[in-house]
Amino acid sequence: MRIIDIRATSVTVPLEAPLRHANGCHWGRFVRTIVEVETDNGLIGLGEMGGGGESAEAMFRALKAMLLGHDPARLEEMRFLIANPTASLYNNRTQALAALEFACLDILGQAWGVPVCDILGGRLRDRVTFATYCFWRYANPATGEGEVRTPQQMVAFAAEMKRRFGFTTHKMKGGVFHPDYEIEVYRALAAAFPEDSLRFDPNGVLSTEQAIRFGQGIEGLRNDYLEDPVYGLNGMRRTREMVRIPLATNTVVVNFEQLAANILNTAVDVILLDTTFWGGIRACVKAASVCETFQIGVAVHSSGELGIQLATMLHLGAVIPNLSFAADAHYHHLTDDIIQGGLMKYERGSIAVPEGPGLGVKLDREKLGEYSELYKRLGGYAYDRDPLRPDWSPLVPNDRWADPADSRTPAIPY
Ligand SMILES: [Mg+2]
Repeated sequence: MRIIDIRATSVTVPLEAPLRHANGCHWGRFVRTIVEVETDNGLIGLGEMGGGGESAEAMFRALKAMLLGHDPARLEEMRFLIANPTASLYNNRTQALAALEFACLDILGQAWGVPVCDILGGRLRDRVTFATYCFWRYANPATGEGEVRTPQQMVAFAAEMKRRFGFTTHKMKGGVFHPDYEIEVYRALAAAFPEDSLRFDPNGVLSTEQAIRFGQGIEGLRNDYLEDPVYGLNGMRRTREMVRIPLATNTVVVNFEQLAANILNTAVDVILLDTTFWGGIRACVKAASVCETFQIGVAVHSSGELGIQLATMLHLGAVIPNLSFAADAHYHHLTDDIIQGGLMKYERGSIAVPEGPGLGVKLDREKLGEYSELYKRLGGYAYDRDPLRPDWSPLVPNDRWADPADSRTPAIPY
């Protein structure tokens, strides 16, 4: 097989409500780039990358020139061809490599008549369990619905997700309001769901001392882990010395150099593997093997996915033996998807690993067209801006917290 074409399409898919986080906000939508790789025997493999627009599409056009004629089975060759670690000092193609790897694995699975998980060692589980992803949310400007700003709203959101999807793990995304406010809300979640497990993630914006104080303040709750309370391996290490809860990261261990450093001088207990950040599903499987050897925990990270990337997370979750935590997904905040059949279904807090050949998902061309048009109409948004605090910049550590009494709704186009 030979690659004969690579196409990239920017899409925008609406969220139920804008999601607030420590660096700003998802402005009511996800912008993603859908990648199609076509081979000379008529197969089309699907990939997905975060962000979009002219620059993303231009990058894939440039990579197409390098990959025309390439055999999609030669994945290690492709890694060095477009993301050689020292050549990468001059470019940043890890996430593009990931999208192309997804598409090539999808092609190989279709060509060989097997799901991607079979190429990666075979499935150990048929379903992957997920956690509720509890965000602070602005109300949807179009409907006025969906705000999460108070402890009552946070508990009600988790209860609704548990009722609809069956989650028994709840992740609270913090770092927006003062940690004294957020710790009370986290405790309210723990009190509301005493049988369920919890995790808290302020995206690294606490100072080390705040991280220690916060961590000590939640010891004794049913914590899976405390995720990125502070930015940097040394801050994490200092926090870990003082807090008796495992620490997790998707921020400071996102490549093999950092993984090695963390093993030689441990700062983090659980590595959250992201199929995009690490440069593909296979890189995550390799990292999981290293973690298995050194008895470091792993879980599956979400960087905001549509169905193609969700499929990569499901195939990853299916094959790694040491997946001992529920996976993260933003998926249940989406209103729709670009894959055939619409949004994948949660049952009892889990999603079935696709069984069809390749990634097991197909593009819904009508939806792709619809959400490509929506992208063209709305354009991008600044992930690291808060639409209601235009003069704010996200410091690390942060001391410019949002005000929980501020109940305004941003005027964001929907
Ligand atoms: Mg995180």
